[in-house]
Amino acid sequence: MQRYATIVIGAGVAGAAAAAALARGGPVLLLEQHAFLHERGSSHGGSRIFRHAYEDARYVRLAQAADRRWQALERRSGERLLLRTGGLDLATKGAPELAAIEAALTAAGSPVERLGAGDVRRRYPAYALADEREALFSPDAGILAATRAVATLLRDAASEGAELRERTPVTELRLHDDGVEGLTPGDHFVAARLVVAAGAWTDRLLADLGVPLRIEQQQVLYLRVREPRLYVPARMPVFIDRQAGIYGFPVFERPHALKVSDHQGAPTVTLETRSFELGEARAADTARRAAALLPGVAPDVVEGQTCLYTKTPDEHFVLDRHPRHPHVAILAGFSGHGFKFGAVLGDVAAALLEGDDEAFDLRLFRLTGRQREARQR
Ligand SMILES: Cc1cc2nc3c(=O)[nH]c(=O)nc-3n(C[C@H](O)[C@H](O)[C@H](O)COP(=O)(O)OP(=O)(O)OC[C@H]3O[C@@H](n4cnc5c(N)ncnc54)[C@H](O)[C@@H]3O)c2cc1C
Repeated sequence: MQRYATIVIGAGVAGAAAAAALARGGPVLLLEQHAFLHERGSSHGGSRIFRHAYEDARYVRLAQAADRRWQALERRSGERLLLRTGGLDLATKGAPELAAIEAALTAAGSPVERLGAGDVRRRYPAYALADEREALFSPDAGILAATRAVATLLRDAASEGAELRERTPVTELRLHDDGVEGLTPGDHFVAARLVVAAGAWTDRLLADLGVPLRIEQQQVLYLRVREPRLYVPARMPVFIDRQAGIYGFPVFERPHALKVSDHQGAPTVTLETRSFELGEARAADTARRAAALLPGVAPDVVEGQTCLYTKTPDEHFVLDRHPRHPHVAILAGFSGHGFKFGAVLGDVAAALLEGDDEAFDLRLFRLTGRQREARQR
């Protein structure tokens, strides 16, 4: 039986960050059921949107904290992980969401600029924004190289002494008042503390959290670009169209195509029923709406990939201690927008395990007092 200070379950962006941060405080064991950097969960792929732009200043401040830590990780590793392209939040003129985002960014001290449709068309000709629409431009936004960021966090954890084990599923968890036991096929581990960062599998390990987690099968599409010179990172900010419900990137991980996706309308699945197939009709609809906004992009899907969201009813994360075991930290329910916070999630886990409730404002992410029903859009 092997003893550790902390066991971390899951090597997605949350677990990798936790292992890296906690390895500085004693022996850490990170257990991943699949191969590292696999494509069955939520953290794989060439890109994720990084932004400070949220309607709630508590998210803006957490994104600022993550920003500093992504930069520190880049300095430590020599890797370029975050490419700043700026970001556009698009909506109908006078949309309350834009006003809320602008207020939250300003309250938290992140720069933001309001642009009319004409400004957007002049400055970023990639976008054909209709006159009745407007945008917020945030210079801090950009592209996180997802899989490479997870690999860099895992390397960072290993360099701090963490023990990393892939293809080692935790099949049973025993939580005690003074520690935890993790059972895997053929092995038995004990530790004083535990971090559960198991993504869509969280409910399998911790069934009684009181916040329902729903799994959605999302898909991202790569659309062929007809005018590459307008769609390069230097000329096209990442975007979130809050009216059309689509978001996307300039040409980045594919030289001839850019990535778009649709935040809404994805099917709810289970870990058994999820597939790796694209929903063709939904893909065609997303591509059509993207091509309407981006005239130099053909609505032909050249490639696509599936990925899982683990949604809470209010779409706020679960960043909390287990209700009956304060030495167990839970990082879950990232609801399709958690990657950008990856670099700070390790320090969040450390603060939770140390009982330090001052380090981060986690009131939005607690298990208690949460909405039980999905929020109406
Ligand atoms: C299509 C798509 C687009 C997205 N776009 C963005 C974006 O632009 N910006 C953004 O910020 N976020 C975005 N997200 C969300 C973001 O990617 C996720 O919130 C984040 O990756 C969640 O990471 P995780 O570590 O919680 O989960 P995962 O990466 O799924 O990691 C959980 C890990 O736990 C392992 N595991 C589970 N059970 C066990 C067990 N019993 N034993 C051992 N290992 C176990 C799993 O195998 C898995 O590797 C997007 C997500 C998707 C799907």
